[in-house]
Formats: sequence, C-alpha cells, structure tokens
Amino acid sequence: MAGGRDSVTSSREPSVALRLKKLPPYLFAEIDRVKRELRRSGRELIDLGVGDPDLPTPEPIIDALCRAAADSANHRYALDFGMPEFRSAISDWFFSRYGVRLDPDREILPLLGTKEGIAHVPLAFIDPGDRVLVPDPGYPVYRSGTIFAGGEPVAMPLRAENDFLADPETLGVSELSGAKMLFINYPNNPTTAVCDTDYFQGMIEFAARRGIIVCHDAAYNEMTFDGYRAPSILQVPGAMETAIEFHSFSKTFSMTGWRVGFAAGSSEIIAALSRIKSNIDSGIFQAVQLAAREALLRWEDLASPLMEAYRRRRDIMVGGVKKIGWKAEPPKGTFYLWLRCPDGLDSASTVSAMLKAGVVATPGSGFGSHGEGYVRMALTRPEEEISRAVEKLAGMPPPERYSEHKKV
Ligand SMILES: *Cc1c(COP(=O)(O)O)cnc(C)c1O
Repeated sequence: MAGGRDSVTSSREPSVALRLKKLPPYLFAEIDRVKRELRRSGRELIDLGVGDPDLPTPEPIIDALCRAAADSANHRYALDFGMPEFRSAISDWFFSRYGVRLDPDREILPLLGTKEGIAHVPLAFIDPGDRVLVPDPGYPVYRSGTIFAGGEPVAMPLRAENDFLADPETLGVSELSGAKMLFINYPNNPTTAVCDTDYFQGMIEFAARRGIIVCHDAAYNEMTFDGYRAPSILQVPGAMETAIEFHSFSKTFSMTGWRVGFAAGSSEIIAALSRIKSNIDSGIFQAVQLAAREALLRWEDLASPLMEAYRRRRDIMVGGVKKIGWKAEPPKGTFYLWLRCPDGLDSASTVSAMLKAGVVATPGSGFGSHGEGYVRMALTRPEEEISRAVEKLAGMPPPERYSEHKKV
C-alpha cells in the first residue's frame, strides 16, 4: 500500500478504513504487469496462474438453469436460507457421499459460493482482538474475512516435513490465547495436500478442549484422483457441535461463475452465519439453486469426466516436469501442482523466469510467507497447452539441484 499517499490524502479523496489498509498487499500486480507486456509483444503465454476451470459447465446443469430461468416463480427474491428442495437434495447427497445425516432445515445453509460464507463466518463470531488461526500458505480469504471482522489472523505454518498438515498444537501459548476460530482446507489449495479422518479427529478434539470453532473448507473434496476419496470433517464424532464445512460447486462442476455453494455442520454456527447473511444478501437466484440441485442429483456422472480430464493433465505435467529435472509428485487432490523452486531461486524469481519462458504460475509466497520457495501451477488449460508449457519450461535455465529437505 502506498504509505506516502495516505499521509497526504487530499480532503476530496476518501480515506479508506483501517480494515482495508490492513489487508496484505496485492502480490500479483507485478506478474500482471509483466503478463501484459509479454502479451503485447506477441509472445504466447500459457496461463496456469488462476484456479478457474477452463472446461464448460456440464450441459444438464445448464439445461436445468434455462428451464428454471424461464419460470417466473423463480424471478422474485429467493429465501435467504435457500429453497427447501435444494437443501433436501444437499442433505440426501451428503448422506450418500459421506454417510452423515444432516437436518436440511438446521444444519445446511446455501451460499453465494463458499468464498462468501468463508468471508462472512468471522463476522458472526469474531470480536475485535479475537484471534483466528489460518493456514499459511492458504486461501487469502481466511485472513481477509478475519481482518474485516476486526480479528487477528495467526498463521499455522504448513510445512513439507509435516505433509502440509496444519498443527495448531505447535503454536505458542501466547499465539493461542484468544483464539476463537480456525480454518483448515484439505484437499489443500495451494499445497495439494490431503488428510485423513484421524487428522480431522485431532483437530476437533483440540478445538473442543479450547472452545474453538473449526471451519473446514472442502472446496476440493470432490476433486480427487487414483481412487482417493476425501473425508468430511462432519464424519468425526463431536464435529457437529463445533465445526462447519464449506462445499463448493465451482471446481467440481466448472461453475465458478455461477456463485453457489453451501455450508453444513453445527446448527448454532449455521444459524449465526445465516443471521449475518440475511442482513447482507437476499438469497441465491432460484434458477441457480435448481441447477445446482440437478448437479448433485447426477454428481458422479457429471463430475467424473471433468476429474478424468484433470487427471490426464496432471499426468502430462508431472511426467513432463520430472523429465526436465524438476521435483514433482502426482497430487491426490485439487487441480494444482505445488513445486519447489530450483535452489537459489525464491518464488518471485522462479515465477518471473517461468514467465519469460512463456508460462504463468503463481508464487507460493503470494499465499503466505510459508509458501516462499514454492510455485503453484493450475491445470486449467487443455492437454496440448500443458504439453507446450512443459516444452517452454524445458527452455528455462535448468535448476541445478533441489533442496533435500522435502520429505521422501
Ligand atoms: C476456489 C476456492 C474457493 C472458492 O470457491 P467458490 O465456491 O467459487 O467461492 C474456496 N476455497 C478454496 C481453497 C478455493 O480454492
């Protein structure tokens, strides 16, 4: 942020609130600038920077939207806690997928995308001075939602030697004091790490002992490979008292633009989030809710071709970068690759060398200081572009050797 400007703000220029000044700086500005420059010079750039699916939303979902959009019954304000038929479809799906029975009236809340729920849930529980434990590296909204509520984010480092599993027990007493909420996210963006139910169990026990609310971001739960099925934190005993889980249609069904997701879990947390939301938004367009319902009714048929496409891309990219001497393992979940920077290069300089080679990636440091030393690539381009990206990376000055601290 331009510190100098704040001090010489003219009387006409509105001075932004402290909560905006407290947000971390926008780290992608420099990448965006170089991207524009290279594009202007006519160079091909393969953009693996953003986690936004290139594949279209499956037809049956679009058809359901069109049918519902033509029905004037869907044109008015939606109920802000969601249509009953959508909530009961979520409940049925959740039971068939996770074996957990959720009360559609009290334990499920449709959202305008999971980002919306993640950003708003701190407003329901966090007072100024309260602390929120957030994974570092992590999805930036855990941090900004906390700051908007007046809370203080405390980083839980995700480390390779710990399989990128957040462990709040390693935080100091002073860091934990005043902690009221924590965020976790597995399968993880950006590290691609996954966890098992034992991990969730430990997290719920920790949180229950200290009266901390657990928010699990399950945006990638249905985006997994090689037979791995991600668990729900709600499968763990005690979770329904202290946890809420955020599910998204965005990545699973290529629906990022549609803005729909849901929260599930503790009825008290759901009720509090719902009170915040009813004062901010007025529900999700009903045609979108009915289309999302259709997605859930046929989720395996509709999602598995998309997952198969990501798996093929993953194998091309992992195989390709290994051949040119990078360290990479095929992730079990998410459509990202999280790669160590070549020795001697930090995240920013690796990304800038990749850019010069014609490939856009995201610096790990953009997700928090513990992301330093890594870059993230999103497999959101077609196979032929992924192959070309590998060729371009092969033209980069070769990494001489890699740090060996990565767990084997
Ligand atoms: C994409 C993403 C989201 C946002 O999903 P929406 O449902 O589109 O809001 C949330 N969390 C993580 C970790 C993501 O990568």
